[in-house]
Amino acid sequence: MTAITSNLQAVNHAITQAVCMAGRRKGSVELLAVSKNFSAIAVCEAYQAGQRAFGESYIQEALDKIEKLRDLPIQWHFIGPVQSNKTRAIATHFAWVHSVDRLKIAERLSAQRPATLPPLNVCIQVNVSGEGSKSGVVPGELVELAQAVACLPHLKLCGLMAVPAPAEGLEAQRIPFFKLHELMQQINTQGLALDTLSMGMSHDLSAAILEGATIVRVGTAIFGERNYGENQ
Ligand SMILES: *Cc1c(COP(=O)(O)O)cnc(C)c1O
Repeated sequence: MTAITSNLQAVNHAITQAVCMAGRRKGSVELLAVSKNFSAIAVCEAYQAGQRAFGESYIQEALDKIEKLRDLPIQWHFIGPVQSNKTRAIATHFAWVHSVDRLKIAERLSAQRPATLPPLNVCIQVNVSGEGSKSGVVPGELVELAQAVACLPHLKLCGLMAVPAPAEGLEAQRIPFFKLHELMQQINTQGLALDTLSMGMSHDLSAAILEGATIVRVGTAIFGERNYGENQ
């Protein structure tokens, strides 16, 4: 068995355990394998071990992999910052975008989504831990953004996403995830029906699942430590 195969098994086991601890339904959390900085060969290995959904953050790197792996029925998710000049490529080649945080970007993705494809699934990225990250809409502007994004014809607003500042220990990690869940419930009282919480990474996936994550985005625990340099 390859390292990626056994890592995937361990991550799926950790997800199952956290789902059980949370008293949630089996299968209610989807694993998104974050393959940024890893090769098409690594993705292929994870695919052969049964993984179908992959997350990418850098558009050019992603397009190379998507082209190489075009014969495999992989579901591609874009999870990185979205620049205006990259929206067409993203709208054309991905099934999901987790990192929408401005109306202008959402409008471009909707306008550029090819008519032959189903609506693009999107999450709004929220800055739940203040200083920690620069990306994400601030909670005070979320409801207005969500209502506007929900009206765009070629997008399907599914839910919210967050990348909280790193924290040690389960209890500290749960706080921002709890907040994101609360924000989704608040939006749903305004007439929307969001059901997706994209939250939790390698080091905090259990905390996220205890707070209601429906998609966890896991890179390092599957593929190993990333070697930056190529993209930065
Ligand atoms: C890189 C990345 C991940 C995966 O992080 P790991 O700590 O490697 O599991 C998840 N979400 C986003 C938005 C990322 O950029």
